[in-house]
Amino acid sequence: MTSASPAPVVLFEGVTKSYPGGVTAVDGVDLSIGYGELTCVVGQSGSGKSTVLHLMGTLDRPSAGRVSVDGYPVAGLSDRELSALRAQRIGFIFQQFHLAVGVPVLDTVADGLLYAGVPLRERRRRAATALERVGLGHRTDHLPHQLSGGERQRAAVARAVIGEPALLLADEPTGNLDSASGAAVLALLRELHSAGTTVVVITHDREMAEVFDRRVEMRDGRIIADAARAGAPR
Ligand code: ADP
Ligand code: MG
Repeated sequence: MTSASPAPVVLFEGVTKSYPGGVTAVDGVDLSIGYGELTCVVGQSGSGKSTVLHLMGTLDRPSAGRVSVDGYPVAGLSDRELSALRAQRIGFIFQQFHLAVGVPVLDTVADGLLYAGVPLRERRRRAATALERVGLGHRTDHLPHQLSGGERQRAAVARAVIGEPALLLADEPTGNLDSASGAAVLALLRELHSAGTTVVVITHDREMAEVFDRRVEMRDGRIIADAARAGAPR
């Protein structure tokens, strides 16, 4: 992999995010994540991890500094353009996946393409493929209450990757799962990474952080360590 270094998928330059009342959630962060990396952001509760993820996902704009995602400076894009960037290039997985009550899992996953302008038939076809990919091919007609927590989270992964995003962002994706289901979701994220997706996972769990190629550690809104795992490809 010796191609002339392309722009990173995520670039933070002196990024600060403050909230009214004087909370500085992210404090002067510089961070560059390349295409194809498998990174985790680790730190205690309140250290600014989710805020960083929201900034990476263009769900939020910085108070100061510059954020670029997939080569686009966020400050230069309108809200409408940001929505399009999110819909086409970024997938999100949160701690808890709220599936719509009474809606079969296939349709919930298919809705992940709603804003990408894909016709319903094609959305459903691709949802079936995505569910197959996460090992839920036999659960497409199930309703949310018929799925276990681990299966629901795998459905969340299917929905997040159905649009084949360049960047997959996961905020404490195993936080509500027992260790076996959590390990399965983690294995799935690693598999997606092997297939070419750039993955950023947030966790407060130091043990879980061990398995990632790159570990960015936060405290009080700052990056205090950024290290490659021994033997990890760089
Ligand atoms: P983490 O995900 O590491 O637990 P967060 O990024 O959620 O941390 O929060 C970092 C800090 O910013 C915390 O002190 C939190 O209370 C504060 N914070 C987060 N979101 C908001 C908000 N919308 N308004 C005010 N303060 C916030
Ligand atoms: Mg958080």
